[in-house]
Amino acid sequence: MPVGTVGSVKAMHPEAVRDTGAEILLGNVYHLMLRPGAERVAELGGLHQFMNWPHPILTDSGGFQVYSLSKIREINEEGAVFRSHIDGSKHQLSPERSIQIQHLLDSNITMAFDECTPYPVSEEDAATSMRLSMRWAARSREAFVERDGYGIFGIVQGSVFPALREESAKALADIGFHGYAIGGLAVGEGPEMMFEVLDYTAPMLPEDQPRYLMGVGKPPDMVEAVRRGVDMFDCVLPTRSGRNGQAFTRRGAINLSNARHAADPRPLDPDCSCPACSRYTRAYLHHLFRAKEILGPILCTTHNLHYYQELMQGIRGAIEAGEFAAFAEAFYAGYEGGDLPRLEGS
Ligand SMILES: [Zn+2]
Repeated sequence: MPVGTVGSVKAMHPEAVRDTGAEILLGNVYHLMLRPGAERVAELGGLHQFMNWPHPILTDSGGFQVYSLSKIREINEEGAVFRSHIDGSKHQLSPERSIQIQHLLDSNITMAFDECTPYPVSEEDAATSMRLSMRWAARSREAFVERDGYGIFGIVQGSVFPALREESAKALADIGFHGYAIGGLAVGEGPEMMFEVLDYTAPMLPEDQPRYLMGVGKPPDMVEAVRRGVDMFDCVLPTRSGRNGQAFTRRGAINLSNARHAADPRPLDPDCSCPACSRYTRAYLHHLFRAKEILGPILCTTHNLHYYQELMQGIRGAIEAGEFAAFAEAFYAGYEGGDLPRLEGS
């Protein structure tokens, strides 16, 4: 899922996002409740209509942003009280209010409201935090209004402790959700630890429902998570990096600001069919970033979103053909093989 935090995938027309192959976007309760406000979006017909994205939307419940963005916060049994990072105004979020906001936004996939456990954390504190999130998960499920075409996902917590992850997965399955997310990862534990947690957590989740790894990641992280049984991802990397001139390609990550591209007439990724690769040269893209032209971030984001969608399409095709292992091997051969050789004289 491309990330459209505040009701916009940065630097992209919604039509262009759709053209990358994306079928669903991520929006954010925390940002949209502060500006323009959930009631305002509802009055204007919901988020699909407001942002001209007539396709599915998943919304993050706000728990992670309360933890990562807001200034002063107080978490108690009821919910979270925090100050806006925009103007310092005071707000509260509870499971019931988060689910109500996601309903007002007309989100197709609602996420349960949870507390993001910080990392590192003691097992005792991780247990306290996870059990609070499980009580909030039950309240979130209760507040969710069942309707056709809409669902709610629970979020497994428990940090890096197998017994806590198991307790959390079981608690969520007992409540019963339409899908299950693995939360509390990509918060500083590092890829090795993250894969270890996925190794034991993914198999604890129902096999016939979507498994969603939140906030991940780099292309190899997604390949490794799929290998462990994950189905869905969201990440700001393709868009955020795209605005900074970092392109993800079949030959790894490439920095377009690097002088080696200044006179290079080749496309960014010769195997990519996106508008940035089929119509422009590396030299032009390099020039746009050096000149700080807004078209640079637009084209690089366009390419990155195409690349991420094509990677996932390739993975889906390989799984259907029973060839995932071969696909992953070919992916690494390309991704770790290095960029195109330098041109003579560049
Ligand atoms: Zn491209």
